[in-house]
Amino acid sequence: MKELLNRMTKDPKIAYFTMEIGLNKEIPTYSGGLGVLAGDTIKSAADLRLPMVSVTLISKKGYFRQAIDERGRQREEPEEWSPARFMELLPVKVAVEIEGRDVYVQAWLFEVKSLTGGSVPVFFLDTDLNENRPDDREITDHLYGGDKAYRLKQEIVLGIGGVRMLRQIGFEIRKYHMNEGHASLLALELLKGYKRDIEEVWDERLVWDTGKVKDLCVFTTHTPAEAGHDKFPYEMVSKVLGEPVPIDVIKALAGSDHMNMTLLALNLSEYVNGVAKKHKEVSQNMFPGYEINSITNGVHSYTWTCDSFRRLYDKYLPGWANEPELFVRVGRIPDSELWDAHMEAKKALLELVKAETGIEMSPDILTIGFARRATAYKRADLLFSDIERLEKIARGKIQVVYAGKAHPKDDAGKWMIEKIFVIKERLRDSIEIAYLENYNMEIAHRLVSGVDVWLNTPMRPLEASGTSGMKATHNGVPNFSVLDGWWIEGHIEGFTGWSIGPEPLENSVNEGVMDSRDAMDLYNKLEEIIMPIYYNDRLTWVRIMQNAIGKNAYYFNSHRMMRRYVTEAYIR
Ligand SMILES: *Cc1c(COP(=O)(O)O)cnc(C)c1O
Repeated sequence: MKELLNRMTKDPKIAYFTMEIGLNKEIPTYSGGLGVLAGDTIKSAADLRLPMVSVTLISKKGYFRQAIDERGRQREEPEEWSPARFMELLPVKVAVEIEGRDVYVQAWLFEVKSLTGGSVPVFFLDTDLNENRPDDREITDHLYGGDKAYRLKQEIVLGIGGVRMLRQIGFEIRKYHMNEGHASLLALELLKGYKRDIEEVWDERLVWDTGKVKDLCVFTTHTPAEAGHDKFPYEMVSKVLGEPVPIDVIKALAGSDHMNMTLLALNLSEYVNGVAKKHKEVSQNMFPGYEINSITNGVHSYTWTCDSFRRLYDKYLPGWANEPELFVRVGRIPDSELWDAHMEAKKALLELVKAETGIEMSPDILTIGFARRATAYKRADLLFSDIERLEKIARGKIQVVYAGKAHPKDDAGKWMIEKIFVIKERLRDSIEIAYLENYNMEIAHRLVSGVDVWLNTPMRPLEASGTSGMKATHNGVPNFSVLDGWWIEGHIEGFTGWSIGPEPLENSVNEGVMDSRDAMDLYNKLEEIIMPIYYNDRLTWVRIMQNAIGKNAYYFNSHRMMRRYVTEAYIR
């Protein structure tokens, strides 16, 4: 163990801090897009042999396992798992102060190893130690569970505990990358180390050298909605966090009325970015006065490509997994083999649908996929805005597969699932609709590769990036989506896929108008463009599949994303 740690700490590193991470289907320490992105980031870093380490929480009871009854009501069950099966507990302990007492933190080590010889250690922090009080032992149990104070405690463990853990192990860190504001307290912990000599300064607030911290920090914001930013009342902050630096200093950096974690990160990071070009603009408007850059997200190509397409790429584009730029040569793949690979993935999905729901779908029918967090702004029900119209269009020629969890406290999201169940029953004689339980990385993998079209209908401009559509393109599945997030950059109408609704510049129409305009466009394109090509013009359909790979997967992968983080954020 000692030897392993010595080897790991030999060179300076970039430390990537994230509340959640989705590395594989067996380690349920993620809830959705943010965590899966973190996993893909670390996998690409390992492939590219970047000098990185990552810090996250062990989340021993996961996010939750979703069960859905016959009426569409979601039940949440703990997703208990056993870290010892996958990782090793390090004999290193640090303490953080929470509510005035010491809470001890230990770390599990998981190494992400690449075939290229690269490797990135991921440290999963755990407070379930004998030394701790029973309630403190539960701090790292539930991802996004509990109340606000519970969240603040988790963020103390992640940010402050994480920095101390890396120091204790012996790492020299060149850059700290905060994946979302959950990790912002790391910057306060760093600030404590940069106190100027009081004799040299005339203003109390200048004692703390924020410039030194900024040089060390990179911040990626992911949330285009004001409500999505973590904020804690100062009463709670004084009680739970105390004053790692004087409260006036915290207020100057994180806002005077609440401790706003996004603001804290913005004020203590030299480089800040949004996760798509549009998201950068939205964030810039939310936080005027800060320079916000953009690095559009990507997905880990190998992870998100299904078996039949991996074989195809190995045969015609050898080396693709570590050099996704090779997708530019997708034209080398014969049309028939591309189609066969797709049908193989489609049949595998339909088998899963049958096994999970009993619903039998036909591989010859146009299959639409929609899977994402069940929450109001994602508008999973937009497809059903005008049911008569949809039935007229479909006439036995469309089937739809859904999946998605609602956050336990998101009643509107839960209602969305129930609504789809009601419609599913109502349409049972005209359109087959299946809702798969417990959306996770495994189901995502089957879905994005096995459907014919990937549908996305968020309310503009709330989709910061979106990544499931990028996964679809790696399997030759074209997107049919609202122009928001990454699709604004990936969309070429009728070439890489299709848009729904107006150009991205138009943001300010009211919601009702937006819904009906988008729905109308969705129906029109489905009826007049997508179904006719799918059923009558296989050659054009396969060209569009090729373009999804050659133009979208070519660019929207995490290898490209990480090269940009290196040149634009890490080395400056
Ligand atoms: C990729 C992925 C997501 C994110 O998808 P979006 O398109 O960004 O909503 C969420 N959950 C799981 C399990 C995923 O694999």
